[in-house]
Amino acid sequence: MELKKEKNAVILAHYYQEADIQDIADYVGDSLGLSQEAMKVDADIILFAGVHFMAETAKILNPTKKVILPDLKAGCSLAESCPPDLFKKFIDEHPDHIVITYVNCSAEIKALSDIVCTSSNALKIVESIPKETPIIFAPDKNLGKYIISKTGRDMLLWDGSCVVHEAFSLDKLIEVHKQYPAATIIAHPESETHILQTASYIGSTAGMINYVKTNPNNQFIVATEAGILHKMQQEVPHKILIPAPSKEDNTCACSECGYMKMNTLQKVYDCLLNESPEINIPENIRKKALVPIERMLELSK
Ligand code: SF4
Repeated sequence: MELKKEKNAVILAHYYQEADIQDIADYVGDSLGLSQEAMKVDADIILFAGVHFMAETAKILNPTKKVILPDLKAGCSLAESCPPDLFKKFIDEHPDHIVITYVNCSAEIKALSDIVCTSSNALKIVESIPKETPIIFAPDKNLGKYIISKTGRDMLLWDGSCVVHEAFSLDKLIEVHKQYPAATIIAHPESETHILQTASYIGSTAGMINYVKTNPNNQFIVATEAGILHKMQQEVPHKILIPAPSKEDNTCACSECGYMKMNTLQKVYDCLLNESPEINIPENIRKKALVPIERMLELSK
């Protein structure tokens, strides 16, 4: 893309973006991979094809670079389920707790946190906290419950969730599995417990892609946002990938994030051309939010 060169810009895209956006991106990844990539970027402009909190994370890590997002309305139900004023009150009520927040939250929430995590490293980060230290985990209660089931830690959970991962239908999933009895079910830990209990593998988007590549089975039912199927299918063109069905959807049987899909190829182009909309974060918040992100990146090495 000529314009990209002309602007000395880099395009980072999340796995949940439309296929045509993933195809023009310099790097496609999950939240952890994108954060790590954002740190290495040697460009004047970072166009972040994803949602608002992801672009904010890139800006927190790259204060001198211009970070742009194709649609400022591309939010996240999970991030929105944790308003900073209420979260601050919750933390103040439990002053002895260490605060671990999932990266899917606003810069203000990160600024109130001790350490950030992603679905790739959440278990490792929780396990790095001494057993006697009580933990607040926010904002995703489903990921929190999954971590509790794995670590036995008694964490205090914020009551937030992702609309996409809560939309999977267990009944329909069982029906699909009856049609493909040899298929292995894999799921993202933002999914509800009853969906996770059916899965043979639970992991981040990057973890799921790696699993289908290395697992000898040829059929998988994939319980996460359907955008992941584009990259996954490129990695395993000979394998059958079936999106897990959602409660609402009776047509394509897949679950899509309306926020992620607000970005279109046209908006990506316009955004780069106009270098707008731009992400800006007050410096006092950015500095505070940087500390828990850096702790996470350090622990993820
Ligand atoms: S899939 Fe869920 S967690 Fe991810 S951006 Fe969309 S609403 Fe947020």
